[in-house]
Amino acid sequence: MDNTSLYREASKCVRCGACKALCPTYMTTSNETMGARGRVALIGELGTKRLAPGRNLAEKIFSCMLCGACKGLCPLGIDIPEVMYQGRAALRRSYKRGRLLRAALKRSLSRPDMAFSLLRAYRRFLYSPLHKAGMAGYMPEVTSKPFKDSIQVYKNIKRTGRVAVFAGCSVNYFYPDIGNALSAVLVSKGYEVVVFRGESCCGAPFRAFGLQREAADLARRNIEHFNRVRAEAVISLCPTCTMVIRRQYPVLAGDTIANLMDVSEFLAGSGIASGLEIRPARVTYHDPCHLSFGLGVREEPRRILRGIRGVEFTEMRHADECCGFAGFFSLHFRDISMSIGRKKMENILDTSADVVVTSCPGCIMHMENLKAECGGQFEVKHIIEVIDEAVHTA
Ligand code: SF4
Ligand code: SF4
Repeated sequence: MDNTSLYREASKCVRCGACKALCPTYMTTSNETMGARGRVALIGELGTKRLAPGRNLAEKIFSCMLCGACKGLCPLGIDIPEVMYQGRAALRRSYKRGRLLRAALKRSLSRPDMAFSLLRAYRRFLYSPLHKAGMAGYMPEVTSKPFKDSIQVYKNIKRTGRVAVFAGCSVNYFYPDIGNALSAVLVSKGYEVVVFRGESCCGAPFRAFGLQREAADLARRNIEHFNRVRAEAVISLCPTCTMVIRRQYPVLAGDTIANLMDVSEFLAGSGIASGLEIRPARVTYHDPCHLSFGLGVREEPRRILRGIRGVEFTEMRHADECCGFAGFFSLHFRDISMSIGRKKMENILDTSADVVVTSCPGCIMHMENLKAECGGQFEVKHIIEVIDEAVHTA
């Protein structure tokens, strides 16, 4: 979408307000310019030149969580998250707070491992004092052994099938155990598993910072690499990656990764999760925004969890409301992020669940942080970790 199309799209808005109903930043701040309708109106005003690009305007557009809760609510069919992405591209130079991260992201394009090495050094030497002083948001350890650098092809004599893994940066660098859990489950069920070193960032953080061209480059790299791998499915462990690859790659790069599936879709369709059992536990499920609003995957993870013997499944209130993470949003809009997250914690605590299951590494990161703050006794797990436990205790 070029700027003319962007402004034309925003100008269709009739200000009905339907899109505000589920907007987490609006519900938290009650501020019109921090809500879906207000943001679309601001982009419309930018198009008519009644507003000029500037810091305040950029702050409002970059404060959108890109959660997609507003998508599908507009009676005129305006794709509001897409308007926000394009608005960011138009306003990226006005978003002054994003300068450092934007520059770091651009540098990471050619040397992603180097970028994560620097992040690891920061985590080891600077993070603790800054975090204790309230000057740095929560960040888990950064591994020195990225998941994608593990064994590249897990051979299997049973040959149930051949699948590849799209782990995503969070799993690769922060939570390699989630990737290892997937490999262990698949291998135990007879699959040959390809872990692909050629995987690049899906591009989501680049789009979030308005770096469209860079996101398109990454899309092309991933499409070229993954479509060369002979596999019946490419299993993704991160709903944001899945949503970006499935919904946005066709627009960014004119193609996508064939057979990409979220891990819950794959598990539900393959029968891998049937007949499993875990130690008795009360379990609830948190819907990651990009899986529920972005891809409409809501029933599969619940069906999987309900089917495991030992799981006492309990639904939390507003399970599909955002946890408050939204990537860099949790750094730049920390108060709103924590406020949204605290509501999520209340809803979790009300269920008395022993385990909160989700399928997004970003949600896990944020909920771990919030859990520590509220003294919660529950565990937070990725759905594949639950399946891994069940497969290996069977
Ligand atoms: S994407 Fe989410 S935060 Fe952004 S306007 Fe829509 S509902 Fe609000
Ligand atoms: S739902 Fe659509 S028409 Fe109504 S305020 Fe939101 S963007 Fe405008």
